[in-house]
Amino acid sequence: MKRFALAGNPNCGKTTLFNSLTGSTAHVGNWPGVTVDKRDGVYKKCPEPVAIVDLPGIYSLSPYTPEEVIARNYLLDEKPDCVINIVDATNLERNLYLTTQILEIDVPMVIALNMMDAVEKAGDKIDAKELEKRLGVPVVKISALKEEGLRELMDKAWNESKKVRMGTTVLQDTALIHLVGDVKIALEGQKVKNPLFHAVKLVEGDEIERKMHAETVNMVEAFKKTFHDNVFGNDFEALVADARYQYISGHFAPVVTRKNTDRFRMSASDKADKVLTHKIWGIPIFLVILFAIFHLTFSEDLLFLGRIFSLPTLEDLGLMAVNADGELEAIHYGVRWLACVYDGAVMSPGVILNNVWNDMLVGELFGWLKDIIAGSGMQEWAIGLLSDGIIEGIGAVLSFLPPILTLFLFFSILEDSGYMARIAFILDRMFRRFGLSGRAFMPMIMGFGCSVPAMINTRTLADDQERTATIRVIPFFSCGAKLPILTAVAGAIVAGAGIGNADLITYSMYLLGIVVAILSVLLMRSTTLKGETPPFIMELPSYHAPQLKNLTAHLWDKAKHFIKKAFTIIFASTIVIWILTHFSFGWQFLADEEIDQSILANISMLVQPVFTPLGFGSQLKAFGWVFVLAAITGLIAKENVIATFGVLAACIAGAALDDPDGSGIPYVLAMITETGITVPALISFIAFNMTTIPCFAAVGTAKAELQNKKRYRFTLLFWIVTSYLVATAIYTIGTAWWTAFLWAGAIAAVIAFLAVRNGKRA
Ligand code: GDP
Ligand code: MG
Repeated sequence: MKRFALAGNPNCGKTTLFNSLTGSTAHVGNWPGVTVDKRDGVYKKCPEPVAIVDLPGIYSLSPYTPEEVIARNYLLDEKPDCVINIVDATNLERNLYLTTQILEIDVPMVIALNMMDAVEKAGDKIDAKELEKRLGVPVVKISALKEEGLRELMDKAWNESKKVRMGTTVLQDTALIHLVGDVKIALEGQKVKNPLFHAVKLVEGDEIERKMHAETVNMVEAFKKTFHDNVFGNDFEALVADARYQYISGHFAPVVTRKNTDRFRMSASDKADKVLTHKIWGIPIFLVILFAIFHLTFSEDLLFLGRIFSLPTLEDLGLMAVNADGELEAIHYGVRWLACVYDGAVMSPGVILNNVWNDMLVGELFGWLKDIIAGSGMQEWAIGLLSDGIIEGIGAVLSFLPPILTLFLFFSILEDSGYMARIAFILDRMFRRFGLSGRAFMPMIMGFGCSVPAMINTRTLADDQERTATIRVIPFFSCGAKLPILTAVAGAIVAGAGIGNADLITYSMYLLGIVVAILSVLLMRSTTLKGETPPFIMELPSYHAPQLKNLTAHLWDKAKHFIKKAFTIIFASTIVIWILTHFSFGWQFLADEEIDQSILANISMLVQPVFTPLGFGSQLKAFGWVFVLAAITGLIAKENVIATFGVLAACIAGAALDDPDGSGIPYVLAMITETGITVPALISFIAFNMTTIPCFAAVGTAKAELQNKKRYRFTLLFWIVTSYLVATAIYTIGTAWWTAFLWAGAIAAVIAFLAVRNGKRA
């Protein structure tokens, strides 16, 4: 089967074309670099089926980003039968820069002039016949979006694929051509394939080429010494780039006739940019957009309507009533559906989705399954394993799906519309100080919602080291599931000690997470994950209306990914933890309230001394191990930390404790009374939970995204060590304030050490 490769700049419409040609549904986004994975498909309307490959979007065939290397290697080594070079016709000159490089490869090639619909709408004209003559390869006008011209494009590509094409270069008329020609002859002598391409790259001084053709490098250097340019001196990379642009503006640009020749005319996109990327208003506008996203995903009081108008609750309306067990219950099944949308306030779309999914669909289905299992007459432990272990475990994982998808939907819209690229641009300068690029910002912010989509979103980071560092600190941006731990413990501190302000404690924990993240990144970027932050060279794409088809395809992709993981690593770990909490060392099955005899409780008692510096170790009374146990069950889902306290409270008291408003505060208070834990130790405990290994869903995602066993293991270690240090610092400073000086001293020593060491290396 013949293979055609789609190559072009980011956002030129490759993925759109790919989808139209293959009928498959790859993600179409505005963020350059999303298409890092290779996508294959089959086009069926040529005389024979043709395999189509969507290469990553690139501006050049230089060796600076993984995308460039992938595309370059594919074109050179995999030898596609034809390259379809997609060119954004609204931005012709810039796009042809890559074209001039592909032309140098010995491969059949067709140019697809994409976005012709937009060109025509603007009233501009492009003389494709003339361009074809000047480039020497077929040029076809298309609109990938409107699916126009695709048939002609593919027919031309099919014809070309039957021919042999030798590379040509636009450096032909420049002083450089003699140098290129001599190097090319030398390479041909060595039987190197694509000699013209390699010759030009060697002249540019491209790192990959210098390594690959070590024996020719000296010769090139010798040639170069005899050459001097008045403007660029001996910077051959700049020389070649300039020569390409000169040629493009002299020979190719004239094929365009613009209707409006006023060069300062602003497009709608430029106008939008005037506001959205404004020097002063850019960031406030962005913060408002971010707030709106989180509000629409997590708020149980949309637009604060409930608070503003003091709307009645369902109970006020007589639709919910307290039943015999003292629980609030809907008087009619239909009211339960209503409760998903409204209860004293209108819910945000994200919360509605969450309620419908968790309370109605999954909740009902699993409740029904549990009833069947309970009535099946199986052994008690088997029923427990199936319904509390497996079903609850799957339920816990599936319950993450609505917020993950909602957040992803909003962020995909930002990405697809072209806004995200601009935000990255605005924030780039600030982030550079921390050794990160502006693109790292989005994943971090998404971390406040859920680490899973946040980690997946780090794919937009070009640099591997930077990406790893970002994945590692994402859990420090306290996710939605950690909030209940914060509010329950903070509430209990205030209720128990009668001091402080619960909101203040909660906020300062968020702040702590951010500070720890910044310090960690600084540390990593100057030690194990050193590296230059890649320069911000991407072009800002013009704004596009996001497309529903692409968004849904993208979301489905994510959901599939997550569910698959849910049924492997997360699922297995959930079962393990259930078994460890429901069996004693003698393999005796234990009821929930007998958790104190479980294997995990025993392990917790054993390791308890390790947590002494953190304040919840040996210094606590009889039940001191509960904090360790809760932290471990929190690995399934952070919600479990407080739920475990509930189980333990029932276990200690011999009867379930009341928690009428579901705050978890009574459970934490019971733990405080039982163990005598101090306030600094409680704060250390929440800080520990915030910075330690995140839930299994996030761990699984980190593993998949890091794609490197060593890095993944080091990441787990990093989380453990960080949380241990942070919690110890909090406890010791909280217990004896003067220890703050010791910590400050230690941090200063580390910084000084690194500065000296890095200084020596440089
Ligand atoms: P890629 O980065 O090269 O894969 O580009 P995409 O396929 O993701 O397209 C980038 C943006 O351009 C998307 O918002 C598309 O909807 C839009 N787009 C793609 N083809 C066309 C076209 O022919 N006309 C117009 N007006 N927009 C297009
Ligand atoms: Mg793409």
